[in-house]
Amino acid sequence: MQSLRELFRIGVGPSSSHTMGPALAAARFAAQHPQAASFTATLLGSLAATGRGHGTDTALQNAFAPKPVTITWRPEVEHPFHPNGLELAALGGDGAVLGTWQVFSTGGGALGEPGQPGPPQVYQAASMAELLDWCATTGKPLHQHVRERDGDALWPYLAECWQAMRRCLARGLAIDGELPGGLRLRRRARTMLTRSRGVRAVAVSAFALAVMEENAAGGEVVTAPTCGACGVVPAVLARLQGDLMAPDSHIHDALATAGLVGNLVKRNASISGAEVGCQGEVGTACAMAAAAATQLLGGNPPQVEHAAEMALEHHLGLTCDPVLGLVQMPCIERNAFAATRALDCAELALCSDGTHRISFDEAVAAMKATGRDLSRKYRETAEGGLAALRPTATWMMGS
Ligand code: SF4
Repeated sequence: MQSLRELFRIGVGPSSSHTMGPALAAARFAAQHPQAASFTATLLGSLAATGRGHGTDTALQNAFAPKPVTITWRPEVEHPFHPNGLELAALGGDGAVLGTWQVFSTGGGALGEPGQPGPPQVYQAASMAELLDWCATTGKPLHQHVRERDGDALWPYLAECWQAMRRCLARGLAIDGELPGGLRLRRRARTMLTRSRGVRAVAVSAFALAVMEENAAGGEVVTAPTCGACGVVPAVLARLQGDLMAPDSHIHDALATAGLVGNLVKRNASISGAEVGCQGEVGTACAMAAAAATQLLGGNPPQVEHAAEMALEHHLGLTCDPVLGLVQMPCIERNAFAATRALDCAELALCSDGTHRISFDEAVAAMKATGRDLSRKYRETAEGGLAALRPTATWMMGS
């Protein structure tokens, strides 16, 4: 598995696969071709299907600026390597092609190319079973494994991520108004928190909404594991930090454990909605948050694994169906539901001794197989499910 730096990325929303990844690819390509006068970008598969709603065109224009980029949308072309394909070309002043690059936005802001090894593997363990064996043998918790493999130097980065999450949450709770994109959705986080009257499920939902509303508005977020699912982990951690008065160091350790869970899903299945549907995004985020919460509440490694397994298991089959291709409906509210579910999973796991029938590794394998069987309509193409509904006049009036 790769470093957790490859999982938690600080960047701007609304989509790690459709804005962060393409922007990173464009910036790299532009740096390789400083002599180019202009660029072309052809978006393939899901990148083209929901790219307009997700803001892929704006991300590319900003990344290539001040040089112009011509964008072609080809949703009907899906490459077998990954559904989020991007073909870039650099053009000279006379229109001659100076260079081309075919690259894929593989989820969570990461880039991939067929036959290329990608970032170094810093974890030898490839399953939760191996990690639990390590915990049992050494008597150490899961986050200690992260420290041993990713190194002490990861902790300042986790602290940076936590600060970015807190900033995002604070911004989201301070603003009212309408979200961009055409659905005319109004922000609800601030009002919901005011009305929560201390009810935990409502307060944690308000936190998740705050982060997701910032993401929808193109604010700075931390992928956990993606932008579309970035509200779950910070909502749960912020709520528990308040309840427990936990120091930041405990939150950083919890983030490390959450990252380990996300990394396992990324390695053994996918965190890309275009590949496996929303089970890979919000389902994974829920498993990460459940694991982190269980650890914060004093759970042992088998209980952490149990919580993560329950959280993922009960998101199996969840489709990706964003209305108008925007990361708003159902994405924003879906994060709120996953945050409350993560806390429930932690509490259920803490009431158990950690023994259970279906392992986390088996749930990940089932998620991958389910994602493979999902119709293309339900994998971030905005063609099925809620995305097939036509927005009504009432929606457009902002009700
Ligand atoms: S439905 Fe889920 S996977 Fe699809 S864009 Fe929204 S959050 Fe991402």
